Amino acid sequence: MAREPRYDILFEPIPIGPVTAPNRFYQVPHCNGMGYRDPSGMVELRRIKAEGGWGVVCTEQAEIHHTSEITPFIEIRLWDDRDLPPLVAMCEAVHGHGALAGIELAYNGMNGPNFYTREIPLGPSDMPIITFTNDPVQARAMDREDIANLRRWHRNAALRAKKAGFDIVYVYAAHGFGAPQHFLSRRYNRRSDEYGGSLENRARLLRELIEDTKDAVGDACAIAVRISMDEMIGAAGLHREEVEDVIGLMAELPDLWDLTLSGWDNDSRSSRFADEGAQQPFVAGIKKITTKPVVGVGRFTSPDAMAAMVRKGVLDLIGAARPSIADPFLPRKIEEGRQDEIRECIGCNICVTGDMTMSPIRCTQNPTMGEEWRRGWHPERIAGKGSAGRVLVVGAGPAGLEAARALGKRGYAVTLAEARHEPGGRITRECRLPGLAAWARVRDYRLQQLNDLPNVELYYDSALSCDQILGFGYEYIAVATGSRWRRDGLARFHQAAIPVAEGATVLTPDDLMDGAPPRGHVVLFDDDHYYMGSVLAELLVAADCTVTLVTPAAEVAGWTQNTLEQAAIQRRLLELGVDIVPHRALTRIAPDGVATACVFTGGTDARSCDAVLLVTARQPEDALYLELRDRRGDWAAAGVESVAVIGDARAPGLIAAAVYAGHRYARELDAEVPVDEPPFRREIAQFRGT
Ligand code: ADP
Ligand code: SF4
Repeated sequence: MAREPRYDILFEPIPIGPVTAPNRFYQVPHCNGMGYRDPSGMVELRRIKAEGGWGVVCTEQAEIHHTSEITPFIEIRLWDDRDLPPLVAMCEAVHGHGALAGIELAYNGMNGPNFYTREIPLGPSDMPIITFTNDPVQARAMDREDIANLRRWHRNAALRAKKAGFDIVYVYAAHGFGAPQHFLSRRYNRRSDEYGGSLENRARLLRELIEDTKDAVGDACAIAVRISMDEMIGAAGLHREEVEDVIGLMAELPDLWDLTLSGWDNDSRSSRFADEGAQQPFVAGIKKITTKPVVGVGRFTSPDAMAAMVRKGVLDLIGAARPSIADPFLPRKIEEGRQDEIRECIGCNICVTGDMTMSPIRCTQNPTMGEEWRRGWHPERIAGKGSAGRVLVVGAGPAGLEAARALGKRGYAVTLAEARHEPGGRITRECRLPGLAAWARVRDYRLQQLNDLPNVELYYDSALSCDQILGFGYEYIAVATGSRWRRDGLARFHQAAIPVAEGATVLTPDDLMDGAPPRGHVVLFDDDHYYMGSVLAELLVAADCTVTLVTPAAEVAGWTQNTLEQAAIQRRLLELGVDIVPHRALTRIAPDGVATACVFTGGTDARSCDAVLLVTARQPEDALYLELRDRRGDWAAAGVESVAVIGDARAPGLIAAAVYAGHRYARELDAEVPVDEPPFRREIAQFRGT
């Protein structure tokens, strides 16, 4: 198929200083939790982006010097020439597909604790460092010698980047992570010398780093500046007017402006808190200040929205991190007129949790993300079937849908049976909850793909029993029957059921998703710590309930620190009037109230309420699987070769884990998978001994 002419504008080549991007699709720098520990995985991940049509493919932040590192987070390093081989490989791989390679040189300064190197962090002023974890470390105010050193280190890193083959070299002043931003900031820069005080002085380091980088590598490389337009804390922080003035001071100095918000949580807002294109108010109009190309992000997955950004003169290049993770082949699909096949990012930020937990990146929509090198999984290609057997997949949640899709692509004859009247499992139920509408894309992408696969049949209203399944005679059976929320309160705090007096109203998230919310005052006990408790608190408030949220943790939805949502969630619940009771657990539930205990002292108190909602653990719906397993003796007569349980029915977890489980089942159905050793390749640090 040919691409739609209205998208031609996205495929125009764009000169950036001495280099030219082949199109306007620009994969901005993004972390991947691989970095220096898993460099081969990093290289293959970036290569596939270029193969998928991204005209520019950038690294994550690259630590340029050992005096500034952000342990425990794992990024790439450019400390000396020994760090070059994977970067050379990345440039060659990206160039092999006609794309440009960019590198984000980062000196984190007062954002790095230096726990690995034990060097004293350097910043504009003597202040505590500004890490997520309030580390007990202070940065030292840089003197003139330190500034001269930093300029030399940055220059050396730029020269190394050029040697590696990069086409675009960044000066990083964004997200609260880059030292030049700390100098720009009135909050952190308390200097009285020529690097402090006036805006021109505070911008001096940024200007010098741009000039140095241009001087060092500007003949061959484009110099990009990544800057944050707003810290979203009002006049006390960097804000649009001030940053416009900074850009105005050096508008034509770099070859490209890459516009972001600060901190990272504001830049990578989840779909619960920001729609596609939400950054437009912060970047519109910047092109009037500079003639240099401007790139910006906005979780763009719609080619119409992207083309509109260019036509309206807001952006020259469409920046993307998450959309390129969910679908590395997004540009190619538009180019080939297959935009309906784009696997759209759902804005859940599970990708971010890779970096935040120092583990390789994973994605809810794209189960191959992070597995490109170690498992050899490609996002668009999958081996043909290795057997003539037919597959029955039971349950059309994310695990079942992905298993059926991937098996269908492999050429297997697949029957997908779903008990309910509609597909999607937990996706269909949860996407109706406040703020989670975009999650429906997990279901919709797969249904669209199944539609094009004549070898996959989908049946609704088909709650299958063990006898029925054994009677069908499928060779392979995958049970993907999901899970249900527990009603007894077992999770992390309680390992025995919470005592419930007769007549008490005890609800679970499934009850709320199935029907009308309760009335009156609801105590919500959240021992799950991810999104569900806070989302249901919103639902209850919308239904005019009074909500008290009790949690053994210090904060609501603590795990969402990893998805960058925690502060926004807590703010929203407080603004909605939810009474948040931290550090307490329910110890007894009665018809008119609950008893709670302090997690530290055990001291109890009583609170009145009309109903209790338990957001605790989930129970796998594995009865069907267990029955099939118990009847192993009947398999041969029924023609069954294997029975597997996948997704939440195996162990309740993330939606990303269910999609991954479905995909993995499809890949490994006819493969010998080792169980006594890792079923993937891994990078092993070179052992140097003595
Ligand atoms: P997962 O996240 O593992 O995909 P879900 O809970 O989202 O799990 O989906 C499981 C799906 O399986 C639900 O849509 C449910 O209706 C369906 N299901 C459960 N038991 C059966 C059964 N016996 N036959 C067919 N479908 C079933
Ligand atoms: Fe998008 Fe979620 Fe995938 Fe991240 S993990 S790219 S937010 S779908």
